[in-house]
Amino acid sequence: MRKTGIIGGTFNPIHNGHILLAVYCKEKLNLDRVVFIPTYTPPHKSDKDLVSEVHRLNMCNIAVQNHVDFSVSDIEIKRKGKSYTFETLTSLKEIYPHDTLYFITGADMFLTLEKWKNPEIIFDKAIIAAVPRNSSDCKMLSSHYKNFLKPLGAKACILDEPVLSVSSTFIRENIDNYDLIKSLIDRNVYEYIVKNNLYKE
Ligand code: ATP
Ligand code: MG
Repeated sequence: MRKTGIIGGTFNPIHNGHILLAVYCKEKLNLDRVVFIPTYTPPHKSDKDLVSEVHRLNMCNIAVQNHVDFSVSDIEIKRKGKSYTFETLTSLKEIYPHDTLYFITGADMFLTLEKWKNPEIIFDKAIIAAVPRNSSDCKMLSSHYKNFLKPLGAKACILDEPVLSVSSTFIRENIDNYDLIKSLIDRNVYEYIVKNNLYKE
């Protein structure tokens, strides 16, 4: 049975925190592969900073190109409209019935999972892997699991070390300061952003 990690996100843009999250979970949980799933951009989306799904998909493909066990799926982009995680995991389970799915989340996502649509279905289809985004998150993850997610049937692997304290927001806000962000983003992704004039006012 293959173990497959799934990371969903806007990836606006994908950064080294996302890649290290995948590397860390792959090692710790012995995953065979990790699939990145960028969200679709809903029409009329109010977030003016959100670039098109084609750009975000392209940047994800650039960022995973040197990692043989990482890939990018356009399943949510192709579905268009709002994709719920329970639907995506249900489809993936149909496509890969023999895989054990691990839904990989940063702490911010993990701490809201019980409010997502149909959390019981999410927990039925996948084991949740949670990684703190900074050292102050660490303690909250276990208590949140015990109090909110376990009662809904979740199985979770809580990893206790942050990988890299960076967000796409930080990258977008500092896109003109390459020296500041160069250790936080793939060089080729950065060049793609510059070439396509992304994240400019
Ligand atoms: P934004 O600032 O735009 O919200 P983001 O950096 O949070 O961007 P997302 O695309 O929202 O990136 O996140 C996708 C997934 O990756 C989420 O589960 C998020 O918690 C996780 N994640 C993002 N950055 C990190 C990080 N540095 N460490 C651990 N997990 C992370
Ligand atoms: Mg985020």
